[in-house]
Amino acid sequence: MYDVIIVGAGATGLTAAIYACRKKLKTAIISIDVGGQTNLTSHIENYPGTGPMHGIELMQRFQNEAIGFGAELIMGKANKVDKTDNGFRVGLANGESYECKALILAYGKVPRSLGIENEEKFLGRGVSTCVTCDLPLFKNRDVAVIGGGNSAVEGALESATIAKKVYLIHRRDSFRADEITVEKLKQNKNIGLVLNSISTKVVGDKNVEGIEVENIVTKEKKTLKVDGVFIEIGYVVDTSFVQHLVKVNEKKEIIVDEKCNTSHAGIFAAGDITPVPYKQTVIAAGEGSKAALECYRWLTGGKGAVLDWS
Ligand SMILES: Cc1cc2nc3c(=O)[nH]c(=O)nc-3n(C[C@H](O)[C@H](O)[C@H](O)COP(=O)(O)OP(=O)(O)OC[C@H]3O[C@@H](n4cnc5c(N)ncnc54)[C@H](O)[C@@H]3O)c2cc1C
Repeated sequence: MYDVIIVGAGATGLTAAIYACRKKLKTAIISIDVGGQTNLTSHIENYPGTGPMHGIELMQRFQNEAIGFGAELIMGKANKVDKTDNGFRVGLANGESYECKALILAYGKVPRSLGIENEEKFLGRGVSTCVTCDLPLFKNRDVAVIGGGNSAVEGALESATIAKKVYLIHRRDSFRADEITVEKLKQNKNIGLVLNSISTKVVGDKNVEGIEVENIVTKEKKTLKVDGVFIEIGYVVDTSFVQHLVKVNEKKEIIVDEKCNTSHAGIFAAGDITPVPYKQTVIAAGEGSKAALECYRWLTGGKGAVLDWS
């Protein structure tokens, strides 16, 4: 039985863990990965006090501090939360479950998926949602990038520096990315534009061998031979497995008050999973600290945390 389980090990969850552990709460963090979206920033220069660095390095520092103060890290995807007599039980996709007295939901945003055949099957075996993280695996190989916004166009340009051939697949004939970036894209001979086209299936046996695309104007179908598929179509919040317990807004973000209380006693939420504006790493960290202090105050019957030093 943990005092608190934190779901998500991004800037929010790791900061919450530091604060919870420093209050001597028995703390576990359940997460799919460590670092979250901040890992995707190759050059974060607006996190005060550290100087510019790769987002992965910044998040490793967060992790070291959380673990250093005693947080337990459990890798896995939470997909179920139940109320129990003494608190809550968090279920994982692998069948494990863990109990806690209080819960902090800090699992941010998840990459939007295409919902096409074999996409999930090949995740981690050629299908990726992060060019920055996984591109080195595709040195001198052929890849497809899917999407039409900044992250897809920048992802294609980045891929072209390492991969042999890059296809950029987009369902429209123009891009939503910044003009200067689109200009660079058009000049890059290594990138083949596959426009007005949707991806319909990832092809392969054990690993990705290609991507099937359909031109939505001509209805022509073809399979592009690639070793990697990067899906860069944005992020969404997925609160489906907690909506029976906490209130969400029209964007499915978990509604919180100024101290990160949700509509359910003992469940707190913070960071990108909430409607708090200006989604940034420094804000996520601040919100995570608030959630942990409020959680501590709740666990100690309203006495435990100093709200103001004055
Ligand atoms: C490309 C990009 C660039 C950015 N650049 C900057 C920047 O330069 N400066 C800046 O300040 N901000 C930047 N941001 C925003 C910043 O990264 C986010 O605001 C911040 O990461 C939010 O932190 P979070 O912990 O709330 O959520 P996240 O970072 O999304 O972390 C959520 C964590 O929860 C985990 N998780 C998700 N679902 C589950 C589940 N069901 N079970 C268990 N674990 C789960 C994830 O694996 C992840 O570890 C950028 C974001 C992106 C996408």
